[in-house]
Amino acid sequence: ENTQLKDIISHAKEYGFVFPSSEIYDGLQAVYDYGQNGVELKNNIKNLWWKCMTQLNQNVVGLDAAIFMHPDTWKASGHVDSFNDPMIDNKDSKKRYRADVLIEDKLDELKAILFEIKKKQDQIKDHIPDGPWTGETAIESIEKDINFLEDTLKIGSPEAFNNAFKQVDIFESGNGTANWTQVRQFNLMFSTQTGSVADESTTIYLRPETAQGIFVNFLNVQKTGRMKIPFGIAQIGKAFRNEIVARQFTFRMREFEQMEMQYFVRPGTEMEWYQKWKTIRMKWHQVMGIPTEKLRFHDHEKLAHYANAAVDIEFEFPFGFKEVEGIHSRTDFDLTQHQALSKKKQQYFDNDLNEEGKPYGNYVPYVIETSAGADRLFLMTLCNAFTEEEVTEGEGTKTRTYLKLHPTLAPVKAAVFPLVRKDGLPEKALEIFDDLKFDFNLIYEERDAIGKRYTRQDLIGTPFCIAVDYETLENNTVTVRDRDSREQKRMPINELRTYIGEAVSL
Ligand code: ATP
Repeated sequence: ENTQLKDIISHAKEYGFVFPSSEIYDGLQAVYDYGQNGVELKNNIKNLWWKCMTQLNQNVVGLDAAIFMHPDTWKASGHVDSFNDPMIDNKDSKKRYRADVLIEDKLDELKAILFEIKKKQDQIKDHIPDGPWTGETAIESIEKDINFLEDTLKIGSPEAFNNAFKQVDIFESGNGTANWTQVRQFNLMFSTQTGSVADESTTIYLRPETAQGIFVNFLNVQKTGRMKIPFGIAQIGKAFRNEIVARQFTFRMREFEQMEMQYFVRPGTEMEWYQKWKTIRMKWHQVMGIPTEKLRFHDHEKLAHYANAAVDIEFEFPFGFKEVEGIHSRTDFDLTQHQALSKKKQQYFDNDLNEEGKPYGNYVPYVIETSAGADRLFLMTLCNAFTEEEVTEGEGTKTRTYLKLHPTLAPVKAAVFPLVRKDGLPEKALEIFDDLKFDFNLIYEERDAIGKRYTRQDLIGTPFCIAVDYETLENNTVTVRDRDSREQKRMPINELRTYIGEAVSL
């Protein structure tokens, strides 16, 4: 793990954002708990998404489906048969790896070596005699391996991976291939049992995505809401995947939260909606404060069995550009599958008129999906906000660490401090606190020197600190300190609500 990510992880723990799950028992791999500040930040991200989806779009409504679903759901969706990752075990260390990730790591290593050799070649090219040069053969052989491994990833089958492990030395020298099992498919769904009597029990799954809860309720919502196509259903909820490679903090967890929206459209119009949602979703990330240059689209080279177009929105994490949200054109795959297995029609009657002046009639709608991970967006927000700055202090300089969170997302919007703990200042500060607490999440603090109190708020990203001093008692004004500029200005108490309110709205 790189040092910046390490700093962010320890900051998150030290200031009450994220704790390892059941830490007193040494934690549970790839499962995390959100602390007092983390839960506020995550809720703010989720609320913003919910509001932008449902409140700003008349034709998008919400849903909260259960985590457990009828087991046939996962047969229909293809998860029972094909929600697999290729895995390989090291028999000595008893550790399990994802075959594709081992190959990706090897590719990164080979590309770095190639880069170094080519750099050397540039430096010494005037001194290389004519005829074959040993570096040239090395370049050729590395390029061959790179192409071969890239093809292997595209094919993606256990056979292809086994073949690659035979031909290219993927494992650190000394390990050899003898101590490794063959590559096998590993289903990522967690299962459990329902029913109290053993032989009457059924295997059920913890949902690996929230989308299927939307598909099976498509007609319930459409009919009861009298929805007309195109329309969408949005949902936020937990999903579970038994990830083999669990690393990079809340980027890849075994229990995580998704924010998904399925948009039902008339067949043939899906590409138009796919483009529209791509634009809308990219804009959303920018509006919540992520700089444009840290975001990019990445088209899928290999499409999932259900998709006819798919793109990821990627953010530049300290460990590189990685997916935070997927936008998929899922065709009519899911609804058609549910129709086949449940034997219940999943059709919509479209009475709009086509070019021939006749109603479009009955059809199974096509679907555009936007699928974001709340925990990944949380990590993105944290990485983007984590700021270390050199500031002058007295004679010298020091590093100032703070979270430059968009005020809309900040866990605490303002902190209220009495300058000292006497002469009626705490009472006045509490009066302000009580007046504003219905509108904003606030903190009241009277311990320690005021400088220390400012620092503590910087570390959790509080945009404003309101200080009550002796002047307050005379003319009902306070100082308001800005987190980013550290500047203070005097303001009448009765202007605080509007001032903070404007800053925290988008
Ligand atoms: P990856 O390739 O990184 O495993 P994916 O393509 O399987 O992701 P999707 O199935 O498209 O991901 O899920 C949609 C979104 O859900 C992702 O963009 C991501 O934000 C989130 N997500 C998926 N798996 C996890 C996980 N294990 N932990 C946290 N978030 C996740």
